[in-house]
Amino acid sequence: MLAERIDALLPQTQCRRCGFDGCRPYAEALAHGESALNRCPPGGRAVIAQLAALLGRPELPLDSDCGQEGPQLMAVIDEQVCIGCARCLDDCPTDAIVGARKRMHSVIAEDCSGCELCLPSCPVDCIHMVALATPPHSAPQREPRAVRYRRLYDSRRARLARSQADRRDALRASLAQDGASAD
Ligand code: SF4
Ligand code: SF4
Ligand code: SF4
Repeated sequence: MLAERIDALLPQTQCRRCGFDGCRPYAEALAHGESALNRCPPGGRAVIAQLAALLGRPELPLDSDCGQEGPQLMAVIDEQVCIGCARCLDDCPTDAIVGARKRMHSVIAEDCSGCELCLPSCPVDCIHMVALATPPHSAPQREPRAVRYRRLYDSRRARLARSQADRRDALRASLAQDGASAD
């Protein structure tokens, strides 16, 4: 399937800078000819070239409206400042942040894709991005990282879907019980 082959080229940071809700939706849009191939800043020029070759379309410069190409980033939480509000947990697409409510939080380095989605949620600005000395997302060596991020992202989505279904079931059971008590 074309979307899968496109998705396999994308860095899987799930940063949404392309304007889509993650790498897979962008891959689907590309497969259907519904988006330009120059919208992924983490992938940069190298991924644009790979997409152009796969899709038989001309290469384009990175769309600067989506952001700039740069080094791989990682989030670091200043644990002295963190108030343990847990807001950042909801925004992390790879479940890379650990911590309980009212406890300091920290980032699992190898699980952090550098997407920066946690930054706006922190009320005390204690999350900082640092550049890593690892190869950029577009380098061939990035593939194991991309596979890891995709697996973490998929497992997070599956967990959220399960908990939504559980909540729905609990609500139905409670409504059914109320109905039975009213009879
Ligand atoms: S890594 Fe690229 S394709 Fe994936 S969400 Fe970010 S910008 Fe979109
Ligand atoms: S810790 Fe922040 S930057 Fe890292 S993956 Fe999670 S949301 Fe993205
Ligand atoms: S949002 Fe900021 S203050 Fe709240 S738990 Fe996360 S890092 Fe700590």
